[in-house]
Amino acid sequence: MSFKIAIDGPSGAGKTTLAKMIAKQLKFTYIDTGAMYRTVGLYMVNNNIDMEDETKVEKCLNKIKIDIAYEDGVQLVYLNKENVSDLIRTSEIAKAGSIISAYKKVREKLVLIQRELASTNNVVMDGRDIGTNVLKDADIKIFLTANVKVRALRRMEEFKAKGIIKTKEEVEQDLRERDDRDINRKNNPLKQADDAILLDTTNMSIEEEVKFVIDLYNRKKGDNNA
Ligand code: C5P
Repeated sequence: MSFKIAIDGPSGAGKTTLAKMIAKQLKFTYIDTGAMYRTVGLYMVNNNIDMEDETKVEKCLNKIKIDIAYEDGVQLVYLNKENVSDLIRTSEIAKAGSIISAYKKVREKLVLIQRELASTNNVVMDGRDIGTNVLKDADIKIFLTANVKVRALRRMEEFKAKGIIKTKEEVEQDLRERDDRDINRKNNPLKQADDAILLDTTNMSIEEEVKFVIDLYNRKKGDNNA
């Protein structure tokens, strides 16, 4: 049986950074589910599909093939055989991913891929509905959050490192809009699972976050072996 760690939370809470570090330390596979939603969003943008129209989005889902591969532990995502791992990292595609993620058929298609990946590997999977839906049976569930101002500041630093200049207000507005869509959608909204542990990282360093989860893992492993 594989060991599963689920990390959910709002945009910019630092899920990816934390998940990657834990995966590296435990030698688990890191699965970034947001990348899959972004990839579907990229297809819609590239093909000028009206993303507000659920029927139009659903109609082209059968033309989309998503493949996940790993290179030196880094997740790569392919859209119809093209490596789009870098192309999906823009604000425009983040927004597209956020819009199409509300649709039931989109979610069903991607959840299948996510569950398949987790069935044969020890995984750290991050997203919005991992603990509540994708991996309901996860061994550890974390709901990661932080004050929106802190999240905006962290996101702004990430953009700056890539040479993208945005104001704090712009980034904060963008985060709020995406959270709003995630929390209020009908299908698998962003929500803390009943059995998830809330981790508010507003005043925590990444090292403290990693230690918190690794300690949980060691305790859980100890329990399982007892
Ligand atoms: O995490 P990331 O920002 O890359 O995700 C892009 C978008 O995909 C999010 O804004 C969210 O709306 C959606 N998403 C989702 N469920 C997931 C992962 C991401 O709805 N499990």
